Amino acid sequence: MSFREIRGHEHLYRQFAQAAQSGRLGHAYLFVGPEGVGKHTFARALAKTLLCENRQANVFDACGACSACRWFEAQTHPDFHAVALPPEKHEFPIELIHEVIRLLGVKAARGQYRVVLLDDADTLNEESANAFLKTLEEPPPYSVLILLGTSPDYQLPTIRSRCQVVHFRPLPDDVVADWLRQQGLVKSQAEALRIATLAQGSLTRAQLLAQPEVWNARQKLHAMLGAGRTETVELAQTLWSFVEAAGSNTAAQRQRARLAVEFLMEPLRGALARRLGLSDPAETLAHALPKSAALAERMSVPQLLRALDRCLLADFQIDRRLQLPVILEALADSLTLL
Ligand SMILES: [Zn+2]
Repeated sequence: MSFREIRGHEHLYRQFAQAAQSGRLGHAYLFVGPEGVGKHTFARALAKTLLCENRQANVFDACGACSACRWFEAQTHPDFHAVALPPEKHEFPIELIHEVIRLLGVKAARGQYRVVLLDDADTLNEESANAFLKTLEEPPPYSVLILLGTSPDYQLPTIRSRCQVVHFRPLPDDVVADWLRQQGLVKSQAEALRIATLAQGSLTRAQLLAQPEVWNARQKLHAMLGAGRTETVELAQTLWSFVEAAGSNTAAQRQRARLAVEFLMEPLRGALARRLGLSDPAETLAHALPKSAALAERMSVPQLLRALDRCLLADFQIDRRLQLPVILEALADSLTLL
C-alpha cells in the first residue's frame, strides 16, 4: 500500500507532503476518525514512505521496489513496529508501552527513521499515557510515533497536547462504492451505491452491510420496531444472536453491536423527521424506509427522542466496553416499554 493507491484523504496527503518537503514532519501523531475510514492504511503508507530507501526527490511516496519497501510489505522491516491492544485486554498493558518506548529509542537498523504505530489508542489508561510523556517531550531523533484512535476526547490532555492531531473524515460514497466493487463484495453498481449510502463513509461498515445475513438482520430489526408489538425478550434475543454470530472475537462483536444500534436508529430518525414535518432522511437514500411511517403514527416526538437517546447511550456503552448482553437487553427493554 502506498499513497498513490489511497483515495478520499488527498487533503491530508498534501499536508504531509508539504510538511516533509519543508522538514516539518512531527515526532508524534494522533490519527483520529471513525472506524473503517482508512487511518491504518494511511499510517502504513506514511511509515513505508519514511522508510523507503529510493524515494524520488519531489514525490512524497514509497517507491514500492527497493529492499526497504519489500521488507515493509513482508512485515519484516526492522525499523517499523505495529502494536495493538491484545484481544483479551480492555486497556493497553503498561509492559507494551515500555516496549514501544524502547523501540523508539534504539538506533535505526537501516535508514534514518524508526516508526511505531500504536493501534487502539482509545484504550490507553492514565498509567500508560503518563509513561509516554517523557518520550513525547524529548523524542529520540528520527523517531515517529503514530497513535490511532477514534476521537481526541479519549486521550488525556497531556497526550493530546504533545501530538499533532490528524482528523480523518468519512470517505465519500463513490469511493466506498468503488471499493465494494473492487473487492467483489457486490454484484452491481446499484447495490454498491445502496450500501455506500448507508455505510457512513466506513469501509468496515460497508463490508459488513454487504453480507446478506447482516442485511437481513437490518430488515428484521426494522420490522420489529415498526410492528410495535415486539416483546422485550424477542428483541433482545434478535440483537444478541446477530452480535453473537460474529464469533468469539470481542472487537467483531462490538462492531456488530454498534451496527445493530444504528439499524434501530434509522427508522426512529425517519419517524422523528416525519413528525417534525421534515423529509425522512432515508427517502434521500436509494431505498425508503416504510417502517418510519408506521413509527411516526405510533410514537410521539418525546417518545422518539427518548428512544434515540437510549440508542445513543447503548452506543456509548459499547464504546466503553461494557458487557454486550447487558447493554442489548437494557436497550431492548427500554425500547419495547416506550
Ligand atoms: Zn522504496
